[in-house]
Amino acid sequence: MPAPLRVVIVGGGTAGWMCAAALVGAVRPGVCEVRLVESDEIGIVGVGEATLPQIKEFNEYIGVIEADFMRKTNATFKLGIEFVDWGFKGSSYIHPFGVHGKPMGGVPFYQYWTKARQGGRTDDIEDFCLPIVASRLNRFDFPTTDEGGINSTFAYAYHFDANLYAGFLREFSEARGLRRTEGKVIDVTLRAQDGHIAAITLNSGEVIEGDLFIDCSGFRSLLMGKALEVGYEDWTPWLPCDRALAVPCERTGPLTPYTRSTAREAGWQWRIPLQHRTGNGYVYSSRFISDDEAAATLLANLDGAALDDPRPLRFQAGRREKSWHRNCVAVGLASGFLEPLESTSIYLIQVAITNLLKLMPARTIDPALVEEFNRLVDVEYERVRDFLILHYHANTRDDAPLWTYCREMDVPESLRRRMSLFQHRGHIHKYGQGLFAPPSWLSVFVGQGLRPAHYDPLVDNLPYERIVAEMDALRDSVALAARSMSDHAAFVDDYCASPAAVRLREGVAS
Ligand SMILES: Cc1cc2nc3c(=O)[nH]c(=O)nc-3n(C[C@H](O)[C@H](O)[C@H](O)COP(=O)(O)OP(=O)(O)OC[C@H]3O[C@@H](n4cnc5c(N)ncnc54)[C@H](O)[C@@H]3O)c2cc1C
Repeated sequence: MPAPLRVVIVGGGTAGWMCAAALVGAVRPGVCEVRLVESDEIGIVGVGEATLPQIKEFNEYIGVIEADFMRKTNATFKLGIEFVDWGFKGSSYIHPFGVHGKPMGGVPFYQYWTKARQGGRTDDIEDFCLPIVASRLNRFDFPTTDEGGINSTFAYAYHFDANLYAGFLREFSEARGLRRTEGKVIDVTLRAQDGHIAAITLNSGEVIEGDLFIDCSGFRSLLMGKALEVGYEDWTPWLPCDRALAVPCERTGPLTPYTRSTAREAGWQWRIPLQHRTGNGYVYSSRFISDDEAAATLLANLDGAALDDPRPLRFQAGRREKSWHRNCVAVGLASGFLEPLESTSIYLIQVAITNLLKLMPARTIDPALVEEFNRLVDVEYERVRDFLILHYHANTRDDAPLWTYCREMDVPESLRRRMSLFQHRGHIHKYGQGLFAPPSWLSVFVGQGLRPAHYDPLVDNLPYERIVAEMDALRDSVALAARSMSDHAAFVDDYCASPAAVRLREGVAS
């Protein structure tokens, strides 16, 4: 039996602990020996609080019990993201984790909706989507698995406290034998013959050797960026936000089962409801607003009293030219950053981990594995990038220079083609791999105000009266199904109330 592969993870943020949990949870002990190094002095970003439904698969894969994880991370359910004031001031739409309507005769529902609109009907496409209607009513229930039933037409994700999630995964990993070392990496030694990483040195003087190094050191990108000097592709011209201020506030009002993103003068503000507090932040472009003005805007737009001072964060949209180079794989912020508008960072961590597990190398690394890993990561990054740019670019706001800049900027050719196809005949090409699926594109296209010039002529195969009758019946069944769901707060309380939420409730009651 060959000696186990020595894997060294540098960093204990969400990326580091997700890697650790996956490796100790999924790989047999004799195959690899995993160590994680993190520095308490440096700390973690800790603001990744909204997720995509895929995280449920990750948690299930490593064997996490949902209610336990939710209780320990103050988590709530998420059915989508509401975008307020994005296309134009006064607008609101939800990007749901679910579909709008049902195809008829193999043709997507929105093609019929387009014909009905052109015929003078004023139906809102959101009324045909269960997770949207449920979100607007603050309702939640688990989806069913009876394919075709209305309650099987959506998925869900979570909002959680990112610091607690990292802690939860740490406990999980250490219980399964992971060795964690607290310490600061102060030096990286490269092998003379091939430039691979031989070892890292900690401030304690300890030298840790490894066969495979996973760089989860966050924006510092200590191994991939600094030691191996892999360059960074800057996407700021398309995604100009480069700073954020994050602040939690008291929880007030109903517990919404969705994230809210409100467009502001120089960026956008997030609102993420947790069981015991609400997370908020203003993501903005320093070209268009000062830090002080951004802080004032954020603090003036909270639901309840701020629980801390706003915490500043700086970043640059883009990605490393390679996510796997020599014997180092960068995961998380060390591999790139795309703003959290669509909650994609943790998803990108998950994708990197899943692909690494599939392409796990031996001590001698086959270059084909490296090439394939980088190709898969690139595809994901570019698809998310295009989707994010769409939110900024397709706007008709005339109240602030950021929005004019974004409307007038050149966009990547891949996005330009997608927009043209939709505007021509409502066509949305389904990707073979990666985010996002057509229902997501549809919600943002329509929500941002784009409309197809024509509908698919196959729609004319059905009589108009039948189309509108089907639409009416569908809208009624969506409304009924949403009203039959539980109140989100009551559901969370019953399923996974956290100690902090219970204290809050008792404090409020007394
Ligand atoms: C404003 C903002 C909002 C975000 N919101 C979301 C969201 O809603 N949803 C989402 O999916 N993602 C979001 N993200 C992204 C998300 O926060 C990150 O993807 C996630 O936290 C992973 O971070 P990380 O583990 O890569 O880095 P970090 O959390 O920064 O962790 C880095 C680790 O490396 C360690 N380290 C660094 N240098 C050294 C050293 N020299 N020696 C030893 N250890 C070292 C640190 O101690 C730390 O443990 C957001 C990001 C930002 C900036």
